[in-house]
Formats: sequence, structure tokens, C-alpha cells
Amino acid sequence: MSTGILLTCMLFTAMGASMDLESVPLDWVKVGGEIGRRIDITIYNNTMVMDIDGEFLEPFVKKENVGGGYIGIGKTIDALVRFAKYTNDPKVIERKDHVVKTLLDAQEKDGYIGLFKKSDRVWKLWDIHEIAYIIYGLLMEYRFFKNESALEGARKAGDYLIQNMSPYPGRIPGDGDVCWEMGTTGVETAMLCLYEDTKDPKYLDFVKSYMKLDQWDGPIIKGRWGHIQGHAYAHLKRCMAKMQLNRIETNLDLLKPSRKVLDFILKDNGMVIIGTCGQHECWHDTQEGSANLGETCMTAYLIRWWDECLRETNNSKFGDLMERAIYNALFGAQSLDGRRIRYYTPFEGKRVYFDQDCYCCPCNFRRIIAELPQMIYYTKDNSIYINLFTPSKATLTVDNTPIEIEQETNYPSEGVVKVKINEIPYEKAFPIAFRVPLWCKEVKARINNGDWMVKNDLTGNIWSIENSWEKGSILEINFDMKMRVIRGTQAQAGRVAIMYGPQVFCVSRKANPQLANKDLRLITIDPKSIEGPFPDDTVRKGGLKFTVKGWDTLNWYPLVKYDYENIILTEFPNPDGEMTYLHVINPDDPIIEDDEFWGLSM
Ligand SMILES: [Zn+2]
Repeated sequence: MSTGILLTCMLFTAMGASMDLESVPLDWVKVGGEIGRRIDITIYNNTMVMDIDGEFLEPFVKKENVGGGYIGIGKTIDALVRFAKYTNDPKVIERKDHVVKTLLDAQEKDGYIGLFKKSDRVWKLWDIHEIAYIIYGLLMEYRFFKNESALEGARKAGDYLIQNMSPYPGRIPGDGDVCWEMGTTGVETAMLCLYEDTKDPKYLDFVKSYMKLDQWDGPIIKGRWGHIQGHAYAHLKRCMAKMQLNRIETNLDLLKPSRKVLDFILKDNGMVIIGTCGQHECWHDTQEGSANLGETCMTAYLIRWWDECLRETNNSKFGDLMERAIYNALFGAQSLDGRRIRYYTPFEGKRVYFDQDCYCCPCNFRRIIAELPQMIYYTKDNSIYINLFTPSKATLTVDNTPIEIEQETNYPSEGVVKVKINEIPYEKAFPIAFRVPLWCKEVKARINNGDWMVKNDLTGNIWSIENSWEKGSILEINFDMKMRVIRGTQAQAGRVAIMYGPQVFCVSRKANPQLANKDLRLITIDPKSIEGPFPDDTVRKGGLKFTVKGWDTLNWYPLVKYDYENIILTEFPNPDGEMTYLHVINPDDPIIEDDEFWGLSM
């Protein structure tokens, strides 16, 4: 057995036909705190106010496109379906129904459901990609709302793709402008979901014999060149399709590309501190963080992929990765009022918003936000597992017993989490388990104000607390949350970033008028002068900031007094944030530590 296969087996040893952790039904959970606020503004300040008829639906009704184009209507249906289920708000349901019906009414007799003129269908970019996600979106409508006409429409669209692609094995959409992985992104998932919902073997067969999914071994190609074979989102999407295929017919070889990506991002500088990957959509390992860093599609897919890995392996470190990306790269990709979304979220230099509501990134952003409610609680056999800490309520089923659970917390501003049993029909013994974050060296817990239990050996693991719970029981958890000074690598060598819990902090000129005309890369800080956290509402009510002292890099530090007595660092999603890694006087200062993810074996 080769080392690669052995590692794959070790990591994904628990992976079989089913998930180890079960998600909570979407309509059984309600989320508050910053995660809940982001969900709400994405629904009501974005999805519900964008021009759904003009920008999204009209192209599919008219079908006049020639030469190219992409909207992302399938991704939008997926997000709307989940938002409708989560809120049960008649207005959201009405908008979702309107989009599904308008699109299905526009489907042609041969099954075509796209925006192109007849002459340009299928092989012009991005017709196949668009149709693949429409199939997926319609199947989610079927799965969440039992809408048979959506299943029928998805089937017809799937059959249309098979009929029109099958005569041309290996043909690359866009006449070879982009690689095969990019041009067909989403097809395997759509077909595998069709197979799961219909059990018709032709969909599974297409994925294997035409798409040759099982043969792809996932080479990591860095940089944007040639036919863009290093496209990170297309790559990860395909890794996930292979994981899905493994759930259908167990074959651990299918997990090798996922293993490869995991090693690249954790051991070879493939991921950056804000929890995302890629420069200009493509793999990079330079740790540069300007301009085109972290495509929002990639951030969304990383979170989704880690959630699947978590559910399949029950390895809580995937939850650590999820929350790093959620609080930094993901929330940083959205304006504070929710209306605007970014294509890229750099950690250095000015950030800009994307100028449309459609296209890949805004649509994938909405989808992952719509999935967040199901990433907080899970059940496993007869226990409850808490992955994300945020004010929330959920009804979970343990041994067929419905239990309403609630979290009260100011997380991520502080590490105290109160878990309350609101409803339980009778006293019942079962474990409540939760993630102990990798940054947390000491964790305490107590039941009903009893004695604190203290653990120092659970960092990066799960603490499972067995007890007989009844209505009103309270499990209080206290994570020791300390400021961390994180060492930069590669392009960020000699520099540090400040973190607190899962949050990264950044410098904006707006918060620091004294730096208005300064090159922020030419500021040198004294890490011993960092103070905080202090309350700061720049990004969110109840948010945090830190302060630090420093010099102009051209000055004779440390022998002269500070040029800057009060440089303010705010939470990373601050839209005015421009600099995350700051130059330090002593790169070997013992206060500086490695990012807890760096070199991590999972
Ligand atoms: Zn994108």
C-alpha cells in the first residue's frame, strides 16, 4: 500500500456509505448572533431585493444569448429553497416558487433549460455549467419541498445534457479556451444527485463512463496560465463529487484528491490566514494576499467541503477550519448591510465589491450562507454535537426523543457558551459533545452551576459530557480565549497578524487617520505593545478591536519613541480593512506563534 493510500485511509477511515454526523433539519434551527445576522441580511437585504425578474429570469425566458454568458440561476434556486425552508416566510416562499415556476415554464420540449439561442447551445461557455446547477437547484426544490415538477424538470434537463454531450467524448466546452474541469463544473454533482433521487443508473453511468470522474487524480497546478487548469473552485468541486461517488459506492481511492488538497492547504502554504485559497481563482502558495485573493466561490466550497469532511470523519478540526473561513473570508466578502458581495476578498490592499448580483460568486455566497444553519448542531447515534458557537435554538432528535436546545453566548467576542435544555419530554441520559477549538489550550465546563471540570488535553478535539439532562438543565462552557500573534510565512515572512479566537484583525486607514498617507507595509510594530480586546462596533454590535504601537519603518526603532501610539486593528470583515500582516521589530520574538493550522495532520 502506498503512503498516499495509507494516509487517505487513515484520514477518511470512517467514510463509508453514510455520514457519521447527521445534520439538523433546516427548519428546526434558528440562528442569532453574527452568523444569524449575516443570514438575515443576506435574505432580506440581498436575495429578496435584487432584480430577480430582469437580471436573473429574463435571459432564460428570452433565450437570445450567443457566444457566452452566465447567470447562476440554479445556484440562486438552491439558495432560495434553503432560505424559504429556514424562514418559512410566505414572501420568501413566494419568491422561490416564482423563480422555480418561471424557469420550468421556460424549459423547452427537448429538455433545454438555458439562456442560449439554438445555434449556441451546450458547447458555448457556460451553458453546460449553468444547466448542471439548474438541475441541482431543482433537485433541492424537490428534496426540501417535495415539488414533483421540479424533479421532472431536472430529469429532462439531465437527459438533455446526456443526449447532447454523449456523442462528443472529451470535447471541452468553449472550444478549449478553458480546461475541461472548469467548463463542466457541476455536471458530476448534478448527475449523482439525479441518480440518488431517481435510482436511474444512466446518470451514474454518465459520471463514470463519459465524465470519467473516477479516473481524475486531482493534480494541484499553481498559477493562472494555459487553459487555467489550476482553477481552485472547479478542482475542489470535483474532489467533492468524488467524495459523493464514494458515498454511493465505497471506494477509498476516490478520496485521494481530497487528501491532496488537504495536504496542500495545511502543509504547503495553499491556504491563507483568513481561511480561503487561491489567487485569481487559481491555487497559489506564495501567501500573497492582494487584489484577486480568495474567490468567494472557493471560500464557499471550502466551508461546504470541510462540513462534509466533518460529518464523514467526526474530526472536529474541520470545524475549526469552517469557523476560520466563516468569520473572516466569508463575512469579509459581504458589505456590512448585506447588499453587496465581493468576487475576491484580499487581506492586503483595498477591497472592492462585485458589480452584479448574478454570476458565480454572489450566487455561491448566498448558497453557503443558506447552508450555515445546518453547520451548528449535529446528532450522532444518541448524542448531540455542537460545532459552531453562536446564539441559536434547535430541535434535535436523540433516540427518537425531540429535544430543544439553546445556546446563549457572545462568541466570538468571548469564550463563554451556555447550552440550555429548553424542552425535553422526560429526564434522559445522553452525551452533549462539543468542539474544543485548536486555539483553546484550556477549557472548563460545569453542569447546573456545579463544580468546574477543567481540561488541558482536549485542544483540537471533542469533549463529550455524559449527563442525565432535564428541562432547564444548563451546560456552561468556558473556552480560554487569548490574543494570538501569528507568524507570517512566504510573502508575509517577518510580519505578524493578530487573532482572537477564530477572528483575524486588520488595519484600516479610516480607523487610523494618522496612517492616511502611509504605505501600510512600511509600518513596524512592537508586538509587546498590543492591547485589547476592547469593544468596537465597526463591524458588528459587540465586536472587538486591538491597539498596537509602532514606528515608520525608516525610523531608528527601537531606540526612538513610537511614531504611532495607537494603531487600531478592527475585525477582518471591516470593508475598509487594508492590511492584515504587519512588520515586527523581532521576527523571533517568543510572543509570536505559528498559525494553529500550519503543518496540521488530520
Ligand atoms: Zn466565483
